[in-house]
Amino acid sequence: MTESHVEQQVQARIAAARRRTEDMRRQRAELAAARKRGLAQRHAQKLRNLEQRRREVIVNFRDWLGQRSRRVALYGIWAATSGTWATAEELHTELHQARVDIRECTHLAAAKDAWLAATEQWEHDCVDCGTDSTDERYMVLHDVWAAAGMCPFGFLCIGCLEQRLGRRLRPDDFLEVLLNTDPGYQRSERLTDRLSTATVGQSTTVQPNRGGMTTVPKDQL
Ligand SMILES: [Zn+2]
Ligand SMILES: [Zn+2]
Repeated sequence: MTESHVEQQVQARIAAARRRTEDMRRQRAELAAARKRGLAQRHAQKLRNLEQRRREVIVNFRDWLGQRSRRVALYGIWAATSGTWATAEELHTELHQARVDIRECTHLAAAKDAWLAATEQWEHDCVDCGTDSTDERYMVLHDVWAAAGMCPFGFLCIGCLEQRLGRRLRPDDFLEVLLNTDPGYQRSERLTDRLSTATVGQSTTVQPNRGGMTTVPKDQL
């Protein structure tokens, strides 16, 4: 055995040892990746199962009202109407066709919010443009809302309310309620702009009206 031959064997063993180390490292990495994929898949499956269960408990608005009609007399009256409505919007249309009572529209708006909360859905779609306006929840004075031809049921984004009014909103169009004043609420740039400067209108002499989400907690229904 020559010295160079020994050297070659040593080098070969070193190379083989390196390959084994490299192979083991790769196998460990592959196992870890597979475990990660498996975990991600299991996690995704878990989320799908949760979503499935959530969907199963969601009932349509009419059934939900029916379940609560023992506690809330008005729900019983609505749930027993002969119309084919299933959604709050359809019931609202029927109520308006039969008779317009602003108090009923207010109650229906609150009932819809309670149903949305119970089914963990959050909808703040503008009735005119259909845009989700979760960042444009506000309350304006009754007269302003009425001037836009709105009843207490229904929601308009700032742009569509201004379009209906034919003017820009001013800070004194808004009620002094938490929805308008609390910095914790998410607000679009234009809503922030309309609310800013001067003081916000007082709510003492006028009937508050809803534009956007009501502030009625679901446990009051
Ligand atoms: Zn109405
Ligand atoms: Zn709109």
